[in-house]
Amino acid sequence: MDSFTISTSQRNTFVEITGQVRHSLKRRGLREGIGVVYCPHTTAGITINENADPDVVHDMLLWLERTIPQQQAGFRHGEGNSDSHVKASLVGSSAVIIVDKGDLVLGRWQGIYLCEFDGPRTRTVCVQWLGS
Ligand code: ZN
Repeated sequence: MDSFTISTSQRNTFVEITGQVRHSLKRRGLREGIGVVYCPHTTAGITINENADPDVVHDMLLWLERTIPQQQAGFRHGEGNSDSHVKASLVGSSAVIIVDKGDLVLGRWQGIYLCEFDGPRTRTVCVQWLGS
């Protein structure tokens, strides 16, 4: 397994990690198979989405923050970050990526993101490759 760390700078932010994931793949030399990109945190996630227009990430964060505000009547979790936990579960903690001819199979406008919902923090991203 490979892993790397990402330092985030805001409470809610997406950090593109396509380059780090591709670097891990090249180091492993995998030609055909799959990779699992996983984030071992309860208030961060992994997603694949558009990396061409930064307004897409802006709008996704805006929607998440409006839909799941930090303070909500009835939240009981003492850390005050229940919104972060909800967002992390909605996004999911991993993504599976197909590997073909030694590279990631991503659409022209797709990138892999670490999704931070309780930053700033230092996050670990794990990558496991299966195949040959
Ligand atoms: Zn918490």
